[in-house]
Amino acid sequence: MDLDYPEEAEEFRSEIRAWLVDHLPDGWFDDDFSMTPDERAAFDDEWTGKLREGGWLCASWPTEYGGKGLSTIQNVVLAEEFARAHAPMRADFFGDTLVGPTILTWGTEEQKKEFIPKILSGEISWCQGFSEPNAGSDLASLSTRATRDGDEWVIEGQKVWTTQAQYADYCFVLARTDPDAPKHRGISYLLVPMRQPGIEVRPIVQPDGSAEFNEVFFSGARCPVDNVVGGVNNGWKVAMTTLGFERGSSATTSYRRFAKELDQIIDIARANGRIDDPVVRQRLAAQWSRIQLMRINGLRTLTATLKGEKDAGVAALGALNKMIWSETHRDTMELAIDILGMEGQILTGTGDDEYVAGIGKRVTARDYPASPLQVSFFFSRSETIWGGTAQIQRNIVSERVLGLPREPRPADAR
Ligand SMILES: Cc1cc2nc3c(=O)[nH]c(=O)nc-3n(C[C@H](O)[C@H](O)[C@H](O)COP(=O)(O)OP(=O)(O)OC[C@H]3O[C@@H](n4cnc5c(N)ncnc54)[C@H](O)[C@@H]3O)c2cc1C
Repeated sequence: MDLDYPEEAEEFRSEIRAWLVDHLPDGWFDDDFSMTPDERAAFDDEWTGKLREGGWLCASWPTEYGGKGLSTIQNVVLAEEFARAHAPMRADFFGDTLVGPTILTWGTEEQKKEFIPKILSGEISWCQGFSEPNAGSDLASLSTRATRDGDEWVIEGQKVWTTQAQYADYCFVLARTDPDAPKHRGISYLLVPMRQPGIEVRPIVQPDGSAEFNEVFFSGARCPVDNVVGGVNNGWKVAMTTLGFERGSSATTSYRRFAKELDQIIDIARANGRIDDPVVRQRLAAQWSRIQLMRINGLRTLTATLKGEKDAGVAALGALNKMIWSETHRDTMELAIDILGMEGQILTGTGDDEYVAGIGKRVTARDYPASPLQVSFFFSRSETIWGGTAQIQRNIVSERVLGLPREPRPADAR
């Protein structure tokens, strides 16, 4: 692993640093910097415009579709500098991180011209219609169907867990287009407009009153035949590309968010005296070590990507990283609540706090004012599930890297 970055990457780093200093509010880098909720809202409104002017939104996308055409290493440096400065990137997980790069990889020229500029400008927002009541880990068992009717696909079926479906303009849907083909081969990846009579979205309300994911019912929903990405019945391969982006994003920077949170937890332990408990100290040290492992694994992934290595071990690094970060974060947040003790049960937030997770921004519910740390604790429980569970990541590593015997699949038993 090479820990030094090429000279041009360091020049680019200086450029980003200078831009951030010029554009972030005065005092941003001071330890006691804070903003009122109104100031924060004004900052959020302005900031996306500044990112757009700087060309930093989806900056690795090709210039002909409105990106800045950054190289892999430049893109990594950009993410590192934003993470180091705790400067927010736009939190459009489904458009910027998932479907945009998938359309760039698999889409037709017309699809790129139609959708990519609208994703960049924020004109259309997205949700991900993969999981169904009987198809989660075993995604290829999905039963939502799309049937061709003239120039359109007609969609019937149900999705579940569809995050942000109630706000989305489009959904990238996996639907069965050939029921007679083997199950991985008869699936297509469709771009479906959400605001139409054949789609009903039912939010799933959680105990804290928030409802960020939904059930989505398709009964005669329609989309143009040309909205298939990657070819009819080739949707499984396209979906694997999307899942790769979901599991593998920001490998060299995501550890910073967890490291910052651990620092806060250590401060709490110092303040309430729990730091003197040797078991607490041992658990803190263990979590610190696991976060350092995330950092090193991120650099390993970057080195492999830059060298263009494509063997099974490299392909499984995304699965390994997803498993490690989600389990590390879950355990860190359990430790945080243990350190808070009885106090952990008191809601100490303002009701306006924001918490940005990998999957997007969460605002705490007004009548359930959990603190950012408490929200992070709750959300960490879902992180070993979404994007593929930790057990599924273990299966990928064991089968594709370690060469262990293949898991029996439900289909094998038939
Ligand atoms: C917060 C959140 C947001 C989500 N957002 C979206 C979204 O926007 N769009 C979307 O399409 N989906 C979304 N999901 C769904 C997510 O992808 C699925 O929950 C996940 O893939 C697991 O599927 P499942 O819930 O059906 O669980 P199951 O697949 O039924 O799994 C149940 C348990 O069995 C284990 N298991 C299953 N198969 C195996 C196996 N072969 N070997 C070992 N263990 C196994 C699993 O690890 C798990 O512990 C979201 C989920 C959450 C929690």
